Amino acid sequence: MTFTIATTLEDALAAMAAGARPVAGGSDLVVAARHGKAALPASIVAIDRLGDLARVTGTDDGVRIGALATHATLMLHPLIVDSYPGLADACALVGSPATRNVGTLGGNVMNSSPAMDTGAPLLALGARVELRTVDSTRVVPLAELWTGPGRNVAATDELCTAILVPAPTAAGGTRSSSAYVRLEYRRAMEIAVVGAGASITLAADGTVESLAIALTAVAPTIISVTGLDAFVGKPLDAAALTAVGEIASEQSSPISDLRAGDSYRRHCVGVMARRAAEAAARRAAGEIIGIPVNRAFGIGAAR
Ligand SMILES: Cc1cc2nc3c(=O)[nH]c(=O)nc-3n(C[C@H](O)[C@H](O)[C@H](O)COP(=O)(O)OP(=O)(O)OC[C@H]3O[C@@H](n4cnc5c(N)ncnc54)[C@H](O)[C@@H]3O)c2cc1C
Repeated sequence: MTFTIATTLEDALAAMAAGARPVAGGSDLVVAARHGKAALPASIVAIDRLGDLARVTGTDDGVRIGALATHATLMLHPLIVDSYPGLADACALVGSPATRNVGTLGGNVMNSSPAMDTGAPLLALGARVELRTVDSTRVVPLAELWTGPGRNVAATDELCTAILVPAPTAAGGTRSSSAYVRLEYRRAMEIAVVGAGASITLAADGTVESLAIALTAVAPTIISVTGLDAFVGKPLDAAALTAVGEIASEQSSPISDLRAGDSYRRHCVGVMARRAAEAAARRAAGEIIGIPVNRAFGIGAAR
């Protein structure tokens, strides 16, 4: 096995061009190897010293989150908490303080698990990933990135350098916000049983201008809920929220395993979608709901 520590982006990209696999926090790659789920790659390049890739920067059209930004950073970052609270909700739920301190957003997204927590809010927010090689850069919408559990369209020599999230629409009196909730059986070191991320823009009169919802752990990849345009121009009242939950539930195709049967998961995804939409709408209307929504709403395991 070869192990290289990259101190520049160019070193990292050259190592990947030569066949090395990147390791950031190692909380998926190394932990999976220790648990015997997958052997360590024959060649690894550590990218955790590339400080420039940990930056979170406001841009003209949103935010550029360096792939090495950790969950611990993002859950408290003022720009993320203020404008993309759904992402902060998700980061705040990942693992434990130790996991959040080493685990990166790039690692979460590129590991491509359908149970990853940041995927649903990022997809609902319309995020894209920047992928670089030694001689190319391309930007891929998250909606086109994941192809199956642990699989994505990135070539083996492509490093995710940033996650780009568009600015929430908030023109002409509109107000936008987002939220992420998940069903969990305990409060730390847990993976979502199912989850939902919602992003909403409310018109000045309080009706829905746009609504996007994405679902965690209900299909081979994180998926977007379709058909939500039907709610545009209407208030997101109790009947509408119930309908949102039903649509999400119908579009999910979860598995049965030790943690939950498929019918229970399908029911719960409706509940999570409804709660995520409600929390996002209440935030957009100006209410302060603490991060993560799971704790604020008392979702999941009891205190
Ligand atoms: C105890 C525990 C609890 C956890 N709980 C949760 C949880 O609640 N929710 C959740 O979503 N996840 C959870 N995880 C999974 C993990 O912590 C996250 O997915 C984390 O964000 C992974 O980031 P990392 O930097 O550690 O990735 P790594 O392990 O370093 O990498 C993961 C994969 O992505 C690739 N990769 C990493 N960075 C890049 C990059 N920049 N470009 C291209 N490919 C890259 C690696 O080659 C590898 O295949 C948990 C893990 C543990 C050990």
